[in-house]
Order: sequence, then C-alpha cells, then structure tokens
Amino acid sequence: MSAERLLLGSGPSNAAPETLQALSRPLVGYLDPSFLTMLDELADRLREVFSTRNRMTFAVSGTGSAGMEASLVNVLEPGDTAIVGVNGVFGGRLADVASRAGAEVVRIDSEWGDIIRPEDVRAALEAHPEAKVFALVHAETSTGVSQPIKEIASLVRDHSALFVLDTVTSLSGMLVDVDGWGVDVAYSGAQKCLSVPPGLSPISFSDRAMEAARSRKAPARSWYLDVTLIDGFLTDRVYHHTPPIPMLRALHAGLGVVLAEGLPQRWERHERAAALLAKGLVERGFSYVPPEGHRLPMLHCVRLPDGVDDVEGRAALLSDYGIEISSGIGAFKGECWRIGLMGYNATERNVLTLLAALDDVLRR
Ligand SMILES: *Cc1c(COP(=O)(O)O)cnc(C)c1O
Repeated sequence: MSAERLLLGSGPSNAAPETLQALSRPLVGYLDPSFLTMLDELADRLREVFSTRNRMTFAVSGTGSAGMEASLVNVLEPGDTAIVGVNGVFGGRLADVASRAGAEVVRIDSEWGDIIRPEDVRAALEAHPEAKVFALVHAETSTGVSQPIKEIASLVRDHSALFVLDTVTSLSGMLVDVDGWGVDVAYSGAQKCLSVPPGLSPISFSDRAMEAARSRKAPARSWYLDVTLIDGFLTDRVYHHTPPIPMLRALHAGLGVVLAEGLPQRWERHERAAALLAKGLVERGFSYVPPEGHRLPMLHCVRLPDGVDDVEGRAALLSDYGIEISSGIGAFKGECWRIGLMGYNATERNVLTLLAALDDVLRR
C-alpha cells in the first residue's frame, strides 16, 4: 500500500471519492443496456461542461495527449497548414503532433510565461489564408499562463481554419465556452480539474470538424483515434474497440459531482483558493512567472525565494507531509515550483495545510 498523498502538483489531482467508488463496481459488457444508457448520459454531461451542443462529444480512451492527437490527426492531412501557438511545453507538443500528422506547421512563439498575443495571431492568420487548423492551449500547465481566448476567437471566426483548443487543465476550473467561442475541437483530461483518475480524454468535435474528418482524401493515419469509426460505435453500436468501462463510469460520476456543484460555483471556488494561495506565496517570497491578470487559478508557477532548494524542498513536503507539488520544467527547471489547486483539491483548507507545511520546510 502506498501512503495517502495530497496531490497539489500539475496533475493528477486527488480523485473525488465518488469516482473511486464507481471504479469498483462489478463489470458489465460494452453492449449492456445499463452501460449504453450511462454512456449517453456521460455525453450529455460532457456537453454541459464544455458548453456545447456538438453531437460528437465523448471521451477518448487515453489520457489528455490522446485527445490532443485525436483532435489533429482527424482533421489534418499531409501538406495542410496548421498554425500553432507555442508558449510552453503543451503548445510545443501540439506543434509536434501536427507535424507528425503531416502538416506544415506555422508556429506563433511567445516567451515562456507570456500569453500568445492576439496581434501575432492576426498576422499569422492573414499570412496563411490556406491554414486548415489554428491550435492553442487555454491553460498552459508548464508556465501557469491563462491564455485569453475571446479576442483570438473572433479573429479565428473570420478565417476558414478550424479552431482546436486544449482545455486539459482549464475544463471545469474556469470558464470554457466551446460554442460561444466557436471552438471546432476541444479536448481535456480526466485527472486535472475534473478530479477523475487519469486515462480518459473528453473531446468535442463541431459538425464542421466532423465534415473535415469525413471528407478527407485518405483515412486518418490513426485507426484507433479515427472519429468516423468511433462515431460508428457511439451512433450504431458497431464494435470498434473495447471501451474502458470502469474508467467511463468514473468519469460519469466525476462529471455528476461537477454539475451538482454547478460550474460557476466551481470556478468561484478555484478563484477563492487561488487568491489565498497567491497571498501566502507572495508573503513567503515567491514570485509569479506569468504577469498579473494572466495567471491560472488552478496552476501556480512561481519562482523560488533565494536559498530554497528545489529538490530538497519538494522531497521534504512529500516525505514529511505527504504533499506533492511539481518542479518547474524546461527553462524553469530548478528555479520554479508548480502548485496545483485542481478540482476536488481547490479548497482553502488545502491551501492552509500547504502553507503550514511550507513554513516548516522553509524554516529548516
Ligand atoms: C496534462 C496536459 C496535457 C497532457 O495530458 P496527459 O493526460 O498527461 O496526456 C495536455 N495539455 C495540457 C495543457 C496539460 O496540462
């Protein structure tokens, strides 16, 4: 048995108890009426959380990166242009996946810790009227940057490109408005603010994106992630792959918890916990990487005060208090910590627990 942990890093977050209970129920087959009813209800819940009416809304069998891959591999064909915003690890991963799908990738680079600037997006869209896809990360977990979407969404609306948005860390922790923003493909992950164990990637395709997937010259290069085949199972119950039944039940239960709380109430809870943590961190000499106004409530990327050792500090929090936080990555390795307050974990009580533990660890 491993010890219980308080998971305040970049994910996974602690799973809501309801989701763990759902995992332990006796197995049924994937054509069992009770499972199929649950699956339809799961799709309805996902539509509510994504704020969309998209018919093709489901959970990809795989973690958030599988959703990223499914988003791009279905709509991109070799030789297509994909414009990708890159200001951290996950923007970089989007560019990599698009390029592996055969696309010519046009990167919009920003400093790590900065947002992708709307004027740069406008320039890239104008320079590439042929672009098939514009892809962006909403909550850049590697830097703690909250990417403003509204202005960029209106620029993308005036262009024929499909808008692909990574909402892995943002979904249910802050406003995500798929239909309102005109997002064509949005994907997320179970284990961040949804507080479900890792293994599923909620995803939603607009009719326009499905049309792009259906009218391809050649089939998608991934058989497993081909949405037209997955649609065959979701609509006509034609076997494609065995769905991970316990995980889908866990996600269904986790979404039930999210909707019972209410999305606006959940966003506000994240804001409250974030404000308390920010105050405590600044008082203790930490400084934020992203500028004021562009900080995520669920992921705090902060520079360490002088004299604090990254590895020793995190090791002491884990061994003495059972609290996991994450190191900085890339350019921030050794200099920053990433502290997550995701979903179930975004409480003032957890913040006070962490700050008390930090005070002890920093004193040594
Ligand atoms: C965690 C994360 C991913 C990848 O998800 P995995 O579940 O680790 O595959 C993608 N994008 C962002 C923004 C993330 O935070």
